[in-house]
Amino acid sequence: MLPELPSATLRLSIDRDALAANWRALDRLSGQARAGAAVKADAYGLGVAVAAPVLRDAGCEDFFVAHWQEVPALLAHVPANGVAVLHGPLTAADAAFAKSAGVRPVINSLHQARLWIEAAGGPCDVMIDTGINRIGLNMADLSDPLIGQLQIDVLHSHLASAEEESALNAAQQMRWNAARGQVQHKRASLANSAGIMLGPAYHGDLTRPGLSLFGGVPCADLAQEIRQVVRPETALIQVREIGAGESVGYNATFVAERDMRVGVVSLGYVDGYLRAWSGKGMLRSMDRQLPVIGRVSMDMTAVDLTAATDLREGDWVMVDYTLPEASAASGLSQYELLTLLGRRFAR
Ligand SMILES: *Cc1c(COP(=O)(O)O)cnc(C)c1O
Repeated sequence: MLPELPSATLRLSIDRDALAANWRALDRLSGQARAGAAVKADAYGLGVAVAAPVLRDAGCEDFFVAHWQEVPALLAHVPANGVAVLHGPLTAADAAFAKSAGVRPVINSLHQARLWIEAAGGPCDVMIDTGINRIGLNMADLSDPLIGQLQIDVLHSHLASAEEESALNAAQQMRWNAARGQVQHKRASLANSAGIMLGPAYHGDLTRPGLSLFGGVPCADLAQEIRQVVRPETALIQVREIGAGESVGYNATFVAERDMRVGVVSLGYVDGYLRAWSGKGMLRSMDRQLPVIGRVSMDMTAVDLTAATDLREGDWVMVDYTLPEASAASGLSQYELLTLLGRRFAR
């Protein structure tokens, strides 16, 4: 038998209080509606085993994943009747799985409606496409007799441009409202994180925030409400002195102008710290700045240790990763920044 593994050299510090506070803030901002939680993609990279219990204990009762394969990990923490699967059933096997697991499929097409009725599946959700033209029933499909046979819990639609001032928002809201008058359902839902800020007409009975639970700020109005949740930390695995004129990293893109001290951290693009950060990222030791120098490699990144000459191999440093700022600096979206964070981080 192998001995117990030593600690990882990468960890995600996850502020559970901030996560719970973000859900409560989004629930409050949802007014008459309750906030659920989109926890697809392993809770946007945080780890569903970390995020789901915190959200559940904060009071969240509705959870959304995209794939059937994401259901088991979530059911270890929340009751099945609070789980809906956004992509819906593509095969009879998917429908059978949903039925026996006791989770709701989100029905996105007449094909999916037929599968669910043939499985005698029971309660389900329905997604109507009101203008994003991605997945969901067309408005015209709503009068199909198959839809009348469904036992609909939540009638959903999804906004294409919630974080922008766009005429599409009002147009989608009106179509969703019209659909609410056309089909029997228990609850209605339209808003993602940014959609919550569009006001009561967008709230319905249930909102579906994802990004902002985990610290994302998609629109300025949310900046005051949302706290940072995720902070990547990494260990220095080497410290070296280099002379003026020496280069650092692949393709020698950084050349030292003076003798300097360089640190190498155990974080690379495979961990989600993409090459976009080459020569641009910032790490930190307390409030001392350690700029990334040269190219980010697969497993390593070099930093300038001029501001922190006391640091040694084995010391830990933090990565600047406040999502709105990191997005502006890297050109990656806040969604990408979160969901890229890899499996080598201890969580
Ligand atoms: C991912 C997703 C959400 C969450 O959106 P955020 O912008 O992350 O708040 C809500 N609804 C649906 C249908 C989704 O796919």
